[in-house]
Amino acid sequence: MTSNTLRDADLSYVLHPYTNLVAHETKGPLIAVRGEGVRIFDEKGQDYIEGMAGLWCASLGFNEPRLVEAATRQMQTLPFAHMFNHKSHGPGIELAQALIERAPVPMARAFFANSGSEANDTAIKMIWYMNNALGRPEKKKLIARKRAYHGVTVATASLTSLPANHRDFDLPIDRILHTACPHYYREAQPGESEDAFARRLAAELEEMILAEGPETVAAFFAEPVMGAGGVIVPPETYFQHIQAVLQKYDVLLVADEVICGFGRTGRYWGSQTFDMKPDILTCAKALSSAYLPISAVLVNERVYEALKSNSGKIGTFGHGYTYSAHPVAAAVALETVRLYDERDILGNVATSGARMQARLQALTAHPLVGQARGVGLIGALELVEDKATKRAFDPARAVAPKVVERAQDHGVILRAMAGDAIAFSPPLIISEAEVDEMIDRFTRALDEVTADLGA
Ligand code: PMP
Repeated sequence: MTSNTLRDADLSYVLHPYTNLVAHETKGPLIAVRGEGVRIFDEKGQDYIEGMAGLWCASLGFNEPRLVEAATRQMQTLPFAHMFNHKSHGPGIELAQALIERAPVPMARAFFANSGSEANDTAIKMIWYMNNALGRPEKKKLIARKRAYHGVTVATASLTSLPANHRDFDLPIDRILHTACPHYYREAQPGESEDAFARRLAAELEEMILAEGPETVAAFFAEPVMGAGGVIVPPETYFQHIQAVLQKYDVLLVADEVICGFGRTGRYWGSQTFDMKPDILTCAKALSSAYLPISAVLVNERVYEALKSNSGKIGTFGHGYTYSAHPVAAAVALETVRLYDERDILGNVATSGARMQARLQALTAHPLVGQARGVGLIGALELVEDKATKRAFDPARAVAPKVVERAQDHGVILRAMAGDAIAFSPPLIISEAEVDEMIDRFTRALDEVTADLGA
């Protein structure tokens, strides 16, 4: 199809995810045709630095031959096999072992699904099943944070705490609670230190657990760095204080490593960067460098023993997807994990991440930038109308979306988030020179929108 017929067909046939369906009919799509390194190219041949690695996921960039070869080999050998009913296969077994060996805390078993949402949905079901097995069927409530993103299934969209995911979907479901978001720049009281802020949030969590009744609260879900909520990096001591509360009331910690897992924050896991000791860990996205859909849920011994005892009684652990541990996806994920080691991906995050954070920090001198935040190769700039008072722009002016749109014209793809934050999450293979190019292209867009606002 020519590019015009493709565009017309898109408007006629596709219902786009996470898109303003009205605006799409006039704006139309950016149609990606091929990728190379950290760049994608549209049908006119224009290149874009993928400053979001797609959806925080294409960690090894857009043309890694080793992943193509791993997929091809597995496709030719055994394109499908499953793990139900005592069946198994090599790629799934080896991937489970690779993940358990690399886990940030001792983990007992790995379960596979196809997306971050499915992984978190699985974690919810495991927690409920576990507490039934332990003879405490009332201990089922789940706590997430405001601005959290844990997925879009009925249950995980309920954990997610962004207005668009709840409004008019009749969500959240019951037994889901939301506590404060650790956004120091926005939520701290005047003069409050980062540690005092973290302690206050932990105290608020404790009040919530006591008000609900600790015997009813099962688990706390947390992204190490909150991604879709605006790249919220918690204070250094936040998880230490939160975990003390969770331990006191026997509330499990689920680390949602869907974005942070596999090096994004500078350590292999976000849990290591922030000293989290999860009972359950979910991961996806960079697990396969996004080349095929696959996600995993790692559970510790205590969770595993409870699941095992209940399934023994009932006759089966009645949960799993047709494509749980799909062998081609598992083979690609296994190769991805090997490439992270072979290519010293953490070393690249250290150098290119430092470069990106320094460039973002330097932009705080810009009249529109209220705060730069981030760690490793994830970051954000929060745009404000008045830097002294942190006064935000009227959301109706859509300032961050305009900057992002202009940045696309200049050849860099970024994402505008709630609260006029602009997110940066490039492929983990990005070089320092490419970081510079990404930020230079972005700065041109920011300057142009600033000039427009002045006029
Ligand atoms: N958790 C987090 C932290 C995420 O960022 C996402 C997706 N952006 C999800 C879960 C859901 O993953 P998926 O879109 O693969 O269902």
